[in-house]
Amino acid sequence: MLFKSLLTFILAFPFISPAFPQSSLKFSDRLSCQLEAPKSSAQLGKLICRGLNPHWEYTLLLSQGKKHLRFFYKNLNPKLDYLLFAVPYYWHGKINYALKGENNSTLWEGSFYIKPFKGGVSKIEIKKNPNNDGKKNNLRKEISIQYSLIRRTLRKITFQRFYENRAIFPLEGKFRISSPFGVKRYVNGRFVGFHKGVDIAAPYGTPVRASLSGKIVLARKLILTGNTVIIDHGEGLMTLYAHLSKIFVKKGEFVRQGQIIGKVGSTGRSTGPHLHFGVYLRDIAVDPLQFFKFELKP
Ligand SMILES: [Zn+2]
Repeated sequence: MLFKSLLTFILAFPFISPAFPQSSLKFSDRLSCQLEAPKSSAQLGKLICRGLNPHWEYTLLLSQGKKHLRFFYKNLNPKLDYLLFAVPYYWHGKINYALKGENNSTLWEGSFYIKPFKGGVSKIEIKKNPNNDGKKNNLRKEISIQYSLIRRTLRKITFQRFYENRAIFPLEGKFRISSPFGVKRYVNGRFVGFHKGVDIAAPYGTPVRASLSGKIVLARKLILTGNTVIIDHGEGLMTLYAHLSKIFVKKGEFVRQGQIIGKVGSTGRSTGPHLHFGVYLRDIAVDPLQFFKFELKP
């Protein structure tokens, strides 16, 4: 009888009872994380944790002054898991991070420092044709529609992992880096953006391989990037292959790491046969040459 009334009391006031800890306390108390911070901007990092709640959605908040970035995760393994994140090329210095649980409480936090990204500058002059103005407006409209399509595709997150531990270089044989990542580009003195990938010059027809396993989310001809393929490797990690002469894959298809997805070409806005290779984590461009060295899993 005494036991029963005690139990009723405890159930009625669970917040004062240490015998009924709330699951949030249980998990956050057990949580322990270790940060593998990127050395420079435009690189990936990971937070490796033990004791995550598999039923929760987590947010990793990166902040620097008024700039904020949020990365979402779910279906995590409570024994050991990791949260991939990326630092944009225009962030440098001290960056604060905070891991937040479902009730927006901060579970783990800290900071790290990164070196600024050093990209070169490229200036080109293009002669204007005054007779093409009408045509140009339609073209511009189409380019902007296609640009939005690429952004939308790169922002979609599949909460599954298809990727291996390390990415492979997409080309074999003869090639050279003709334009590195992060080059600031000017056309006729106007800043048109920074180079969000790496250009790899190679003989026309060189096979192009999937850098990691994944699902094809875009495989079509576009105005600027020509024949373009985007592979979703899961968790918002994607690779982009542009200016291909041929595409061998279709949207929705799964490809394995190393599988030939197309051939090097010069389609779209291109001055010679090369592969433009891009790597994105949740639409944040990262330096592909650093990406090949990065171990994606702990
Ligand atoms: Zn390029």
